Amino acid sequence: MLSQISKLVSEQIFRGYNVSRLHPKIQKIFNDCNNVIEVNIPIKLENGEEENIVGYRAQHNNILGPYKGGIRYVPNLHVDDTTTLAKWMTIKCALQDLPLGGGKGGIKFDPNDPKYTEKDIERITRKYTQGLVEHIGPTKDIPAPDVNTNSKMMDWISDEYCKITHSEDINVVTGKTLINGGIQGRTEATGNGIMFSIQKWCEINNFNLENKSFIIQGFGNVGYHIAKQLRENGMRMIGVGDHTGYIRTNTELDIKDIKGFLKKHPLSKYSEVNNSLREQVSVENIDKNEFFKTPCDVVILAAKELEITKDNAGDLDCKLVVEGANGPVDMHGDVILSRKNIPVIPDILANSGGVQVSYYEYIQNMERTLHSYDYVNNMLRKKMFSTTENVLETAYINRISLRDACYKIALDRIQTAYFDQNKIA
Ligand code: NAD
Repeated sequence: MLSQISKLVSEQIFRGYNVSRLHPKIQKIFNDCNNVIEVNIPIKLENGEEENIVGYRAQHNNILGPYKGGIRYVPNLHVDDTTTLAKWMTIKCALQDLPLGGGKGGIKFDPNDPKYTEKDIERITRKYTQGLVEHIGPTKDIPAPDVNTNSKMMDWISDEYCKITHSEDINVVTGKTLINGGIQGRTEATGNGIMFSIQKWCEINNFNLENKSFIIQGFGNVGYHIAKQLRENGMRMIGVGDHTGYIRTNTELDIKDIKGFLKKHPLSKYSEVNNSLREQVSVENIDKNEFFKTPCDVVILAAKELEITKDNAGDLDCKLVVEGANGPVDMHGDVILSRKNIPVIPDILANSGGVQVSYYEYIQNMERTLHSYDYVNNMLRKKMFSTTENVLETAYINRISLRDACYKIALDRIQTAYFDQNKIA
């Protein structure tokens, strides 16, 4: 059975078929996933237990280039979800005009379960790589980190792949540690990319960020970096929420202070712990429903999927919604926000800075160079500006939402590639 997020992606893609008037034969190709590889991983853990773990890699479409997409380690991994998320990657890469296709994969286990030692996780990762070795590679399929995977695990995949293939193709994966060929600025890339997208939206819509307010759900990698960027652009954070609580103020919340606080405490305790900084700011503990009612200029969604739905979209009191997370606004939420004339900068555009910088890592490895943070960030800025401008123009010309415009641009590119390569009879 498809999960809610898979249903959402499928619905969005279906709308995309209509706005781009995709040729029925290409729709048929696009509906299916080119390959789904299953890897069996029999393993004896360090504690003596024996397990047979399963892993998958879904390779959706490679008309534009090698498959690209994350690998997640989660106990509830489903093949159907993996293939749908791979489809989303095909769209994301096409939207950014990258010479890459879409893939997604993972291993069905919980690496946070204390029974797995680091050595066990390394062996599971290496066995998964052995099972995939014929199917991945710089010209075939380039995995990356995703939920519960990190740069250390990407180093293991790269090392195992190079050993088996007797090659130096470290760009079989991206998201590696710096010392093993990773790229500067990858950690900040998604947050910075969101900022560039917002800046372009503001420029075209004559919207000045100075002294405007925002609330943000999710204060992890994406949330923290975008909050920091918005502050540097003159905005005030007046509300923040995560899985440990929701708070707001009528003045301004201190971003660095909250980040430090969250390392040790839940957000719900923030208002109770006094220090000299916080004494001057009155902080209110609220619930999620109240949080999304907060009047502000911009709402940033940087936590998880399906957070804005028919139940709460009507409560939003803002001028712009930005999807930092994947799929945080569902189809009903989208319709309600559109009726309220609140534009949404959609996930496939806003958070695509990550895959963009991953592509720079791939090129960097091919060229055997090491780019500086500034170089990477400048390239990202240019790319996000031009893609966002294209999306806004497409939406305006065709009188469609920014989300539909993203799908139109991506699917038009894919359609053109099929015709150019004479791949449909
Ligand atoms: P993260 O794990 O660093 O942070 C996740 C944040 O969401 C945390 O603040 C957590 O408290 C919050 N959260 C989790 N469950 C919640 C709940 N039930 N209610 C409220 N808050 C909750 O993850 P991240 O890397 O910041 O990613 C956030 C989102 O952005 C995810 O949807 C991810 O798929 C998406 N994304 C991330 C990247 C990237 O480069 N990191 C790229 C593209 C998309």
